[in-house]
Amino acid sequence: MLLSTRRADIDHAIWPATAHDLDGDDISVGGIPLARLADRYGTPLHVVDETDVRQRCRAFKAAFAGGEVVYAGKAFLCRAMARWIAEEGLSLDVCSAGELAVARAAGFPAKRIVMHGNAKTPEDLRAAMDYGVGRIVVDSTAEISRLAALGRRAAPQRLLIRVIPGVDGGSHPAMTTGTEDQKFGFSIASGAAAEAVRRVIGQRGFEPVGLHCHIGSQITSIELFERAAVRVVDLMATIRDEHGVTLPQLDLGGGFAVPYLSGDAEISPAAVGERLMAAVRSACASYRLPVPQVTVEPGRAISARAGVTVYRVLGVKRGLSGRVFVTVDGGMSDNPRPSLYGANYTVRLVGRRATAAERATTVVGRHCEAGDVIARDALLPADVRPGDLLAVPCTGAYHHSMSSNYNLVRRPPVVGVAGGNGRLLIRRETESDLLRRDVG
Ligand SMILES: *Cc1c(COP(=O)(O)O)cnc(C)c1O
Repeated sequence: MLLSTRRADIDHAIWPATAHDLDGDDISVGGIPLARLADRYGTPLHVVDETDVRQRCRAFKAAFAGGEVVYAGKAFLCRAMARWIAEEGLSLDVCSAGELAVARAAGFPAKRIVMHGNAKTPEDLRAAMDYGVGRIVVDSTAEISRLAALGRRAAPQRLLIRVIPGVDGGSHPAMTTGTEDQKFGFSIASGAAAEAVRRVIGQRGFEPVGLHCHIGSQITSIELFERAAVRVVDLMATIRDEHGVTLPQLDLGGGFAVPYLSGDAEISPAAVGERLMAAVRSACASYRLPVPQVTVEPGRAISARAGVTVYRVLGVKRGLSGRVFVTVDGGMSDNPRPSLYGANYTVRLVGRRATAAERATTVVGRHCEAGDVIARDALLPADVRPGDLLAVPCTGAYHHSMSSNYNLVRRPPVVGVAGGNGRLLIRRETESDLLRRDVG
């Protein structure tokens, strides 16, 4: 099926803030044409728009003025990213000794680091305590024992306790973390949360400062966050009544949806800030609790739209039914989201003007898996051919950070762009990187 030759304008809901259409010849990000970046750094290539990241940080800071915004580093982390986050005044959530090592190498202030994870290893916990991270979010009773076994530090370790509010985030099951009977947190309903609080309150070496919940990812309804907030405030009131302890912090997690295709739902920082704060205030008023400091932890909502991946086309095939497959030089090793969650993407031809009409095209990767798809039914010019460049927006979160070496394909570089300059942030993996670990 051929459609019109008119190319859609750049939709800034899914493209980086500085993305700019160069009269149909190319798209620039951070003032640099993507084809020029592809020439300079090769493909596949991850491009990150620093301006977009900083603008998103500022929007969240403004929306939660008086609260705290923690960037969830697992979405995308490197030293440059950690520095941008630090400079914008956000805190940082890490969930392994590895993420902590990157934060530490960037000199990220320890007090503004929160350590997460449903199963932190003794090495993770030791690294966190050695660096003196501000808070550790405890997620199991074994972890409380493991922490206690590490011995006391000069100052008591501040803790948040992760609880299950019993709210279904309604997104993909693999991204739902606020319901009963999944692996994260202590159940409020079963009494496990109250028991965990009992275990840490009054234990020397620990200072419980608040409760934490995170109901999932790609959540499109603010009401679900409000419901979770009310349930956790209810538990804060119970803790006050039982232990006479008023916890000063309430961490409501992240998971704010971003659009991947034009027209997809998204949560605006301003709207969620206003409604969440109102919900917390009113719940606290009903229990005569002082309003705690509210923390949110956006990951995807900070970094997703800053990222564009550029691939080179290796081949074009037509199936028996007429379906057209365009193969690119990357795939599930740099973008596992289609195979994990059935995610879909917008794809644009860049680096040359499209003259042919558009048709629905399946863009696939180079890996040995039939599920190695980048986009289904992407509208691409009918004359796309080997050597062309394709750009995929909204790949700044959970792409590089989830990348793998499947088929021993080398992971792509990440280039930061701003003000007409590109800077290599993470270099392309080499074959000697791959062989360095192969010591047998
Ligand atoms: C993954 C995660 C986040 C961030 O989720 P996004 O969907 O990227 O906003 C925040 N907090 C916790 C505890 C997480 O596990």
